Order: sequence, then structure tokens, then C-alpha cells
Amino acid sequence: MARRFALPKLVVATHNRGKAGEIGTMLKPYGVTIVSAGELGLPSPEETGTTFEANATLKALAATRASGLPALADDSGLSVHALDDQPGVYTADWEGPTRDAMVGMQRIQDELAKRNVPQTVAARAATFHCVLVLAWPDEHLELFHGTCDGAIVWPIRGSGGHGYDPCFQPAGDTRTTAEMSDAEKNAISHRGRAFRMMVEACFR
Ligand code: IMP
Repeated sequence: MARRFALPKLVVATHNRGKAGEIGTMLKPYGVTIVSAGELGLPSPEETGTTFEANATLKALAATRASGLPALADDSGLSVHALDDQPGVYTADWEGPTRDAMVGMQRIQDELAKRNVPQTVAARAATFHCVLVLAWPDEHLELFHGTCDGAIVWPIRGSGGHGYDPCFQPAGDTRTTAEMSDAEKNAISHRGRAFRMMVEACFR
């Protein structure tokens, strides 16, 4: 049985204002006020883990230890099965030093081409992952892992979403997530699923 979240305030372990805002909006109905690690001037810990769970946990624990508040952290990425599940936890690193998603998408396509992976949905199967970790000040942790299965498509399509969305076509759809509305993407995305699991378990 997951621990219920019954505190008024939560630090979101991110320096990304957009992400903190989105999470704040999602948790507003449950009476939780959000402050971000960025707003509190907390340092970003080095993401030294080799799994999404490890990285989300180290971010959540760093934020709760530094602030004394409960903390929520996420870690997400894309695993391409024909590439031995790369880039995985290194998805952001594949975007290069300027964090340009086009660089990351092109690298995935180049690696697939190098391995002569055919242009079929089955051969280019991939999974988006999102792990959310809720950490209380007594260091109790609750983890939620949302996934979205699909395939890498090329050429890229669509201008919505963010990051790798233009090259990712979810299973059972003919559009990429960049061709969907935010609400459509949220209904099937790794992040939407992880959030709904967390809300169901801890906030309702
Ligand atoms: P972060 O954990 O939010 O920093 O994301 C890690 C990496 O995964 C970044 O390179 C993002 O661009 C990518 N990523 C995470 N979620 C999504 C998504 O919903 N669509 C596309 N790319 C994503």
C-alpha cells in the first residue's frame, strides 16, 4: 500500500520552469502547492545512475535533503530496442551540448542505418520511459514507472510536443506524438501514465 501524500507543499526537483509549472497544474486539484528546486536555488545533483529509477531517486533525495520538504523528481528517456535500448538514461546527452533534439533524433537514425535496421515499425520498436519518485523528508520513497511503446519513424513528422516526439510513433497510431494535441499525447504518454499512477496511489 503506497503512502498517501498529505502535506501542503512539495518541491519539484527540476530547474525547468515549464516542467515545474505543468506538475503544479496537475497537482493543484489535490491542494498541493509546488515550488521548484530552481526557485529555491538548490544545486542539481549529477545524474550518475544507470537506470531511470536510480536517477529519479537521487534527484528526489537531494531535493528533500536540501529543502526539508517532500520532493518529486522524474527521469525519462527513450530506449530503442534495435540499439540495445540506447540512448536510455543518456537520451538528453544524445542531444549534444546544446541540447538540440534534432541532433539526438539524427543520431538515432544514423545508428539504425549503420546497423541496416529496416524501415518497419517492428524492426524500429522503441519505448519511452518515465520514472517518478516521491520522497518524504524521512526518506520514505514511492516510485512509479510509466511507459509508452512505439517505433522510430523517419523522416520526422509534426511540430507539437518536445524533444524526440517528431520521430516517435506510438503503437496503434499512424501519427507521431508531435502530430498529436497535448491532451492526446498525455492520455498515452509515459509521463501521463506515471502521473496517473502516482495520483491514484498517493493523492486521491
Ligand atoms: P528529462 O528527463 O525530462 O530531462 O528528459 C530526458 C530526455 O528524454 C530529453 O532528451 C527529452 O528530450 C527526452 N524526452 C523525455 N520525455 C519526452 C517526451 O515526452 N517526448 C520527447 N522526448 C522526451
